[in-house]
Amino acid sequence: MPYDNNNIFAKILRGEIPCNKIHEDAHALAFHDINPQAPVHALVIPKGKYLDAPDFYLNAAPDEIAGFGRAIVAVTQKIGVAETGYRLIANIGAHSHQEVPHYHVHVLGGRPLGAMLPAGP
Ligand code: AMP
Repeated sequence: MPYDNNNIFAKILRGEIPCNKIHEDAHALAFHDINPQAPVHALVIPKGKYLDAPDFYLNAAPDEIAGFGRAIVAVTQKIGVAETGYRLIANIGAHSHQEVPHYHVHVLGGRPLGAMLPAGP
């Protein structure tokens, strides 16, 4: 599947749609999720055009990958979950229910999050 330049995160990166920004640097943008699933729910996205985690980690340059990882850590500090703990989630493909085809990592926290998934296998 080719990268869709009209996906919603591409529009946010181009400034065509607003976001509630948390962090921005050369490699990443982070903003609050519009439909939070926890008291704190941030999204961290790379600035490059990558569909999902495999696309990003196989094709991005090393400095993009390092910068993205460090941006996630910066975000956890800015939203106040670095000390209490948090969960990182990246959905990939149909079984994960990935909705937006631009790689992103969810940062969830602000309360004890319980089991990783609602039900087992
Ligand atoms: P995923 O299912 O992993 O693709 O997650 C996509 C996430 O993007 C969902 O949690 C949505 O609530 C969130 N989302 C969709 N549109 C926006 C938007 N305009 N601003 C912030 N978050 C959004």
